[in-house]
Amino acid sequence: MIPFSQTWPYETIGKDVYVMNCPYCEASNVLLPLKVAELPAIHDGKKRLLVFPCCNHSLSIIDVDADYLLTDKRLRG
Ligand SMILES: [Zn+2]
Repeated sequence: MIPFSQTWPYETIGKDVYVMNCPYCEASNVLLPLKVAELPAIHDGKKRLLVFPCCNHSLSIIDVDADYLLTDKRLRG
């Protein structure tokens, strides 16, 4: 079970994934270098390195649900 502090909400538009706010630099509406089509594989256990285009911070996505990216980094609290 991944703690809530390591989760971040995401949204999708068409094939693209974005976040309302970056957890690191607070940029808004950040389009991620990640496609909706990749989400099932991540949910099945494929770790995915994610580099935020706004500030180059990186983390690994280790799972995903309908609303949240679940990561290896503490993002809040
Ligand atoms: Zn950022």
